[in-house]
Amino acid sequence: NNIKKYFPIRGGVFLKVTGYVKALENIDIEINDFESIGVVGESGCGKTTLGRIITKIYDPTEGSLYFYDEKGNEFDISHKLDKSIRGIFRKNIQMIFQNPYDSLDPRLTVGEIIKEPLQIHRVFKNKKEEDDYVNELLERVGLSATYTTRYPHEFSGGQRQRIAIARALTLRPRLIICDEPTSALDVSVQNQIIEILKEIQNEFKISYLFISHNLDLIHHVSDRIVVIYLGNAIEEAPAEELFENPMHPYTKVLMSSMPSWDPTNRKLGKVSVTGEPPSPINPPLGCPFHPRCPYKMDVCDKIKPKLIGKEHKIACHLYE
Ligand code: SF4
Repeated sequence: NNIKKYFPIRGGVFLKVTGYVKALENIDIEINDFESIGVVGESGCGKTTLGRIITKIYDPTEGSLYFYDEKGNEFDISHKLDKSIRGIFRKNIQMIFQNPYDSLDPRLTVGEIIKEPLQIHRVFKNKKEEDDYVNELLERVGLSATYTTRYPHEFSGGQRQRIAIARALTLRPRLIICDEPTSALDVSVQNQIIEILKEIQNEFKISYLFISHNLDLIHHVSDRIVVIYLGNAIEEAPAEELFENPMHPYTKVLMSSMPSWDPTNRKLGKVSVTGEPPSPINPPLGCPFHPRCPYKMDVCDKIKPKLIGKEHKIACHLYE
């Protein structure tokens, strides 16, 4: 609820705080069991920061974060994780990072990488059971069980991302944050990774938060989509509804940038903008999109629109 994240900028001899990068402004997001939420926006809009706050890699500067266990008990996890919830939270929420060349420890074998969470959480007492479980996970993501003694550098990008998926699955989490999981991969293997993620969602009953700038991918994998611009959620709707009826001018720009196979569809209803997104150090007053918006009105640079609506939410004065 109302998640805000500011990163301090330090300068001078005494490293005094000279300003803030305003990465997220008042974001509300809810992720239900067995649901896929897509978070879409340009590079630097705050999507990754949101994923890292939900996994507790970062604490929010302001706002509240709640985790519900399988019985529906609510835990406030806005600040440092309490001992009573730390273990359950870590088991339930995992992350797959963008770059599998950075996210796997090069000093560990594939078997050690996948076993690490099992050993931290003391899941198996018997080594044979642990080995069998790791082999089963590797096979589930399309890799051979014989790979356990090999090191990450011996694998291609697609294979490394499969190892990262197996590691994320180890503790049978309820939510996996997928931060651009295919953007560092060749196009030919991107689809395979997405298909594996979809298959294991059904099999393991997982929720996903998919972070991407790739609209096609987000459309393909999400039930609901949140569009973020300059740290603000500016539109949220069920995936089909958002693609059929984008309302916010920025979402229309994003949709217009998608290549179409249909030549008659290429010019119709296109919305274009000029310029770059403003700096998150000094964001504009009022609507964050107003310096680039072709529909800007007098009110837009004075009052920030709120995200309003029920199923289809939008933050734009055009619709108030
Ligand atoms: Fe454009 Fe105004 Fe809507 Fe912002 S609030 S998107 S500037 S019309």
